[in-house]
Amino acid sequence: MFNNVAVAAAHARSALGCERVLIVDWDAHHGNGTQDIFWAEPDVMFFDIHRAAPFYPGSGHLEEVGAGLAEGTTINVPLPAGAGDEAYLKAFRDILAPAAAWFKPDIILVSAGFDPHWHDLALNVSYEGFGALTGFMQQLAEQHCGGRLVFVLEGGYNLESLANGTRAVLAVLAGNTVPVPDTCGIAEVQAAADFHRTAFESE
Ligand SMILES: [Zn+2]
Repeated sequence: MFNNVAVAAAHARSALGCERVLIVDWDAHHGNGTQDIFWAEPDVMFFDIHRAAPFYPGSGHLEEVGAGLAEGTTINVPLPAGAGDEAYLKAFRDILAPAAAWFKPDIILVSAGFDPHWHDLALNVSYEGFGALTGFMQQLAEQHCGGRLVFVLEGGYNLESLANGTRAVLAVLAGNTVPVPDTCGIAEVQAAADFHRTAFESE
């Protein structure tokens, strides 16, 4: 068995002239193997957002930050079940973006699992959410490393959400409009806002 994203990171450094590699893992499970491999490697930053322990494999606590010279280049964001698109995007905006600005990656690799989808392991991410995350990653790559961005397919057990989630990512990479993420209850709030606006306007 090979850890594809770790092999890709090592290849980028040894053969492609990339000094610093950022790995972003949005799979529902904590990427414990990737974390172990780069635990003491300061030139590979590992950002992992996942469903919190005791969910399998039970690792990925906030306090797991790397060791030695690499202290701070492992970043874990454990989320409760059902967190949703907005929680993912907020973590990307408020934690990943400043970390990337500090680290200045030469390339970004994404461990793209589709088990955060609500069909699968209940982190409640939607297809629009995966598209929005992809748009965010594109911006980050443009900002820091000339758009060098690679997606590696990771988990996903429900074949329907695996297929549609992959499609949502590819659609954004192919240049389609970045979708607006699905926020719990947002449709209801919008309907209420529209209702009230109509009522005021008709007075
Ligand atoms: Zn997974």
